[in-house]
Amino acid sequence: MKILVLNSGSSSLKYQLIDAHTEEVVAKGLAECIGVAQRCGQIVAETKLAGKIAFETEMNNHDEAMDRVFALLTDPEKGAVKRIDEIAAVGHRVVHGGEKFVQPTLITDEVLAEVEKVSQLAPLHNPPNLAGIRACMRLMPGIPQVAVFDTAFHATIPDCAFIYALPYDYYTAFGVRRYGFHGTSHQYVAGIALDMLAKQGIAPEASRIVTCHLGNGCSMTAISGGRAVDTSMGLTPTEGLVMGTRSGDLDPAILVYLARRLDAPASDIDRIINKESGLLGVSGLSSDMRDIEDAASKGHARAALALEVFCYRIRKYVGAYAAAMGGLDAIVFTAGIGENSPVVRERACRHLGFLGVELDEAKNASERGRAVDIATASSRVRVLLIPTNEERMIARETMRVIAESAAPSPLLMAP
Ligand code: ADP
Repeated sequence: MKILVLNSGSSSLKYQLIDAHTEEVVAKGLAECIGVAQRCGQIVAETKLAGKIAFETEMNNHDEAMDRVFALLTDPEKGAVKRIDEIAAVGHRVVHGGEKFVQPTLITDEVLAEVEKVSQLAPLHNPPNLAGIRACMRLMPGIPQVAVFDTAFHATIPDCAFIYALPYDYYTAFGVRRYGFHGTSHQYVAGIALDMLAKQGIAPEASRIVTCHLGNGCSMTAISGGRAVDTSMGLTPTEGLVMGTRSGDLDPAILVYLARRLDAPASDIDRIINKESGLLGVSGLSSDMRDIEDAASKGHARAALALEVFCYRIRKYVGAYAAAMGGLDAIVFTAGIGENSPVVRERACRHLGFLGVELDEAKNASERGRAVDIATASSRVRVLLIPTNEERMIARETMRVIAESAAPSPLLMAP
């Protein structure tokens, strides 16, 4: 039994076919430049049987991209599935679930209509997610489709942390509140962190951890007793940490000031804070942390500044979340930067000794690719490096939903 996990973005479609029991990835791939007029579409795919293949193919929309992916997966000779019913379900990453979807959800026509309504909150993200779902419903009729929302893990955040101090009517009328994103990743690494802490005698119910997902997009979540209580992204993914090209936290009046100075419409301001800011904006060089670290080490002043602003913001959030939770047992680093950059981890933890954070420099420098504690033995706060795996989490949640939906209703069970 296999679960197909799909992540469809605006011009790309990523997939993994995961064995439901062993959690082994039996096929995976990426279709890129979907519907991009200037460039031909490209597919890179990998299966155990056929190895890696890459080819160009025209893909005008997600329907056509999914046709290609489906043909690859079910190819009679080299495909990863011989019969379509080997795929038990498809799990879809859906970015925004609004307040309506606080759990992974079996997709029905009604659910699709509701997700469509929520698209107002995520006009760039939800429509391609929906296109991927529709393409799968067409190609695999009868196979359960499950939506796993990036926002869902944050549904436990209390109102004092999710309400913005704006006129309250904007919350009730337009849904303006903190939702948070990267929930699947925060949930996955938090699960592993709780197991690691339990082995050291810290019970999950009593644990207070901060998870740092540091990739191209970056966010942090405060997790108390295993439940999210605050997170750094907000109504949109722009709030919070410094990211590759997003500014993160700003004085909101800057937006008004810039609009006036530049005589710019809202769409320009949106582009500036989402595509031209962050590491790229401060350094003037690159949005990629590897380039920033490299240039900073060679004396590039603005790259060094970008690195410092990035790490300082993380450190401030650790302090804020420790205060929010009344203490701290572990900091978790994950995603591209969190898993691979000893420099960022060291700087983010600098000056946190007063909280009981002591990084083991040798472990921080040498560890990579596995879940490991990189704090000193005497550190009161554990510092954990945990590789994330959003696809595995989506596959697990998808399995859970189909198992629950198949379970006989208690009302129908024999007395
Ligand atoms: P996405 O959010 O697109 O999934 P990733 O989680 O893959 O992104 O993270 C991408 C980021 O990770 C980039 O900024 C990249 O530079 C950074 N990164 C990857 N490897 C390293 C490394 N060895 N050192 C520092 N940064 C790294």
